[in-house]
Amino acid sequence: MPVTILVPNALQKYTGNSEAITVEGGNVGEALKSLAISYPELKKHIFNEQNELRQFVNVYVGNDDMRSLQGEETPLNSGDELTIVPSIAGGLDALIEDVSDTNLNKDELLRYSRHLIMPEVALDGQKRLKAAKVLCIGAGGLGSPLALYLAAAGVGTLGIVEFDVVDYTNLQRQIIHGTEDVGRPKLQSAMDTLMSINPFVNVIGYEEPITSENAMRIIEPYDIVIDGTDNFPTRYLVNDACVLLGKPNVYGSIFRFEGQASVFWAEKGPCYRCLYPEPPPPGMVPSCAEGGVLGILPGTIGLIQATEAVKLILGIGEPLIGRLVLYNALKMQFRELKLRKDPDCPICGPNPTITELIDYQEFCGLPKQSEEVVSDNNPLEITVVELKQRFDNGERPIVIDVRETYEYDIASMPFTKLIPMNEVHAHLDEIPRDQEVILHCRSGKRSQTVLEYLQTQGYTNLKNLKGGITAWSNEIDPSVPTY
Ligand SMILES: [Zn+2]
Repeated sequence: MPVTILVPNALQKYTGNSEAITVEGGNVGEALKSLAISYPELKKHIFNEQNELRQFVNVYVGNDDMRSLQGEETPLNSGDELTIVPSIAGGLDALIEDVSDTNLNKDELLRYSRHLIMPEVALDGQKRLKAAKVLCIGAGGLGSPLALYLAAAGVGTLGIVEFDVVDYTNLQRQIIHGTEDVGRPKLQSAMDTLMSINPFVNVIGYEEPITSENAMRIIEPYDIVIDGTDNFPTRYLVNDACVLLGKPNVYGSIFRFEGQASVFWAEKGPCYRCLYPEPPPPGMVPSCAEGGVLGILPGTIGLIQATEAVKLILGIGEPLIGRLVLYNALKMQFRELKLRKDPDCPICGPNPTITELIDYQEFCGLPKQSEEVVSDNNPLEITVVELKQRFDNGERPIVIDVRETYEYDIASMPFTKLIPMNEVHAHLDEIPRDQEVILHCRSGKRSQTVLEYLQTQGYTNLKNLKGGITAWSNEIDPSVPTY
């Protein structure tokens, strides 16, 4: 039964430069063995001494990983196409193939001259960059550096999805925005900066949150999606939309001193759900707003993402497909984990249970927007206005601050006692059960977690200060710094 085997670039030197070889075989194993007989040099690279397929060689039948079928036993039909994908040489074809209609003017030739003199990029590659359409989800910590560099590098069309407003606390890391941009829409600020860096870039803005309703429409026209978001519902939404649309999704995430990056592309490797099938329960993983982030860290991770996008566009190097890079800034260490496609992946596996976008708030265990509004009358909450009134009336309820000592040093509220969240369990004897106790933190999130913990310890006398010390500063006493 004649079938065709496609040989990757890196191995073509062992096949006399043939990229497609027709062999006989009734199943995958037989076809590979007849290939090995014809090309003994190639055999050494794909089989070990025991005549087993080497671990780092993967074979696709049509678009399917043979491991998701019946492995080497997978039966073949006449005319089937096998592709050998050695994980060591990930060399992909350039994502942007047709540049016949793309031209560079004199100014562009000069601007990109340091690219043009490298044979790996050259005029052809620069045209690919210009023809490429890259969508950045978010113009925050990760989106800022990566969009700046992609614009400078000459990516022709940059889409930016962002609906937030520049906040003073963003400036420590979101370098696409300046001090004078505080209070402006981030999208406008980002577009202005990008146009000033490179007027030859076509920047397209989407001033709306990406949702299950608009994700397919927004992502569809782009070649590559770069996920610069910081929350789980959006991360799963972007992953699923990219899998459904067949787009590569360049992933990055950051927390405090550590970051991760990978390229998820279901057609060529695993997706985000193959790595993390389920999100952590709400509250388990703190956000950067709660846990902090070293201002420089998103630069490092964002530029790994930008580098991967450029490599995919040009088809050079080894992409991060099937690999997860872990970065630790304090140790200055990069580690790499191999990722495998999960044969049971609910969206990119052979038997997907997710075939359209779902409700990602619900999937991540978060209340819907409407439910959050209802919680305005939560009997376990007290507002800063109510608390101020009670202080003014001379009442002195027990108020416990569950933030860290270094946060207390930045800002504190009157009449409060500090017991950091992680020490609460060891100080239960200091938290009375016979009179009202009000818990507070920076935003009200951690104190809510502590409230729920204390409830499990039998406390029934608790209230959470809504909005935390940030609300106190905004609504009661502006002299208390926010951070
Ligand atoms: Zn998957």
